[in-house]
Amino acid sequence: MILLAANARAASLINDTETERVISELIAPLGRAADIPQSRLKINIINDDDFNAFVMGGEDVYVYTGLLKKIKSPDALQAVVAHELGHTLGGHMAQMSARMNAELKRTMLIQALGIGLMVAGGDPSLGAGVLAGSSGIAQQSMLSFSRDEERIADNMGLDLMVRAGQNPNGFIDVFSQMREITGAAESRINPNRINHPLTNERLKNVREQIASLKNIQTPDKKTDAARREKYELVRAKLIGYLDSPERVKNLYPNSDKSNPALYARAIANMRGGNLDAARMGTKTLISRAPDNPYFYELLGDIEYQFGHYDDSIDAYDKSLELAGDAPQIQTAAALVLAERDKPGDRARALDLCRRATLSAPAPLTYWVMARAFDDGRADWARAEYYKMLGDDKNAKKYARRAQKTLKKDSPEYIKSGDILHK
Ligand SMILES: [Zn+2]
Repeated sequence: MILLAANARAASLINDTETERVISELIAPLGRAADIPQSRLKINIINDDDFNAFVMGGEDVYVYTGLLKKIKSPDALQAVVAHELGHTLGGHMAQMSARMNAELKRTMLIQALGIGLMVAGGDPSLGAGVLAGSSGIAQQSMLSFSRDEERIADNMGLDLMVRAGQNPNGFIDVFSQMREITGAAESRINPNRINHPLTNERLKNVREQIASLKNIQTPDKKTDAARREKYELVRAKLIGYLDSPERVKNLYPNSDKSNPALYARAIANMRGGNLDAARMGTKTLISRAPDNPYFYELLGDIEYQFGHYDDSIDAYDKSLELAGDAPQIQTAAALVLAERDKPGDRARALDLCRRATLSAPAPLTYWVMARAFDDGRADWARAEYYKMLGDDKNAKKYARRAQKTLKKDSPEYIKSGDILHK
């Protein structure tokens, strides 16, 4: 644990293709060095302002938006994850069961939704879920480590960074930043923190370790610049979506014409209903980087808010063409198709939803499916939606309704039966 939360509070997961992919790319070399197959390392983004991250079950990486928004470099983010993997490699997680991981995921999934759709709207009950949701994150207090374990995790993480050919100075960046942050937060700390080595001590330790290293291989300049650029866009996106318009303005003033600044302002403008400004900024981004799928995704979100369904679908199509299978973008496109409802739209929406649920089942995808079906399968999709939200009563109610009209040998009839007999 990098920093324990001061208190338990509601938290939600954010689904965002761009953020997940950029972080996955950054930690892939660490996974390889730790002998974890890349397909098993799963990134989960927690919407919470704490400067925090943890790894559960050895391969489920949880990163807080508070950390992503604040951390200054991709190297520093890698150092955080390397430290967390260090706890795994050091066997500090042995007492943690896979069941607890599953439970944590289930409770947080209740509130999982796409970052764009969070703003675009969609299902009103999802909003209610965010407010009423139980706190899965409370369980993280069980994850406190001893001072020795923290030091071992730092050392193992540092070793992992070096073996992975990544820049170990990321550790110095992290602890320097943590020193600033913990200084301010020291007054509201959890008693568990007393066991944690002081940040200064950890900073001194990693400095000494790094000084003793010879022949460090780090990514070349070109790779480093490319990933910094991607990382800065992710930060700008999260700040644009999650922070106040004032903060966006402070961090990315109008005088800043960089891509991240344009991105953050376009998103903030969309949130504020300044759709013309949002669209203008996004189109500038697209003209500068016509191969970036996420700028088209944002354009799709903006056009949807305008009520321009045709333009929205064109933008999502372009985004998907560039991004490949991206469940959140597929779901967003399906939502707009189901709403436009021209001939063929529902069939395409359902096809997109099916592909999205194959790679990453999400409540919102089932909710869009329920809108796109015009027979008993809509009730089955609703049942799946409520099941994912943990609302067994409604899940069973709709599963029962689905079975009344569906053929007994249809897949949806059988899946409804699974929900009823669970
Ligand atoms: Zn730790």
